[in-house]
Amino acid sequence: MFRVYKVTISKADLKATQDFIKKTTETFHKAFKEEKPRLLPLCRPFKCGPKGCQYWEQCKPEGRYPLKTRTAWPEEKERKAKEREETNGE
Ligand code: SF4
Repeated sequence: MFRVYKVTISKADLKATQDFIKKTTETFHKAFKEEKPRLLPLCRPFKCGPKGCQYWEQCKPEGRYPLKTRTAWPEEKERKAKEREETNGE
C-alpha cells in the first residue's frame, strides 16, 4: 500500500524556503571553517540535554543551559518565533 500526495507551495514560500536553506548552508560552512559552532542555531529541544547530547557541556546552549525544567521552554519558543520573524523580514 502506498499513498501519493500532491504538495503545492506559493512562489513566495518557495523563495523563502530556498533562501532559508541557502543561508543555513552558508552559516554552516562559516561555522565549520571558523570553528565557531555558536554561529549555528540550536538543535531541536528534544535532543538537547546531558543525556541526549554528548556536546552538552561544551555547547552550553544559551537559554537551555544549565538544564531547566520543561516549563521554561516557552521562553525559548518566544525567542525562536522572534528570530523567525527577523529572518523572514530580511
Ligand atoms: S547541547 Fe548543543 S549540540 Fe547538543 S543538542 Fe543541544 S544545541 Fe545541539
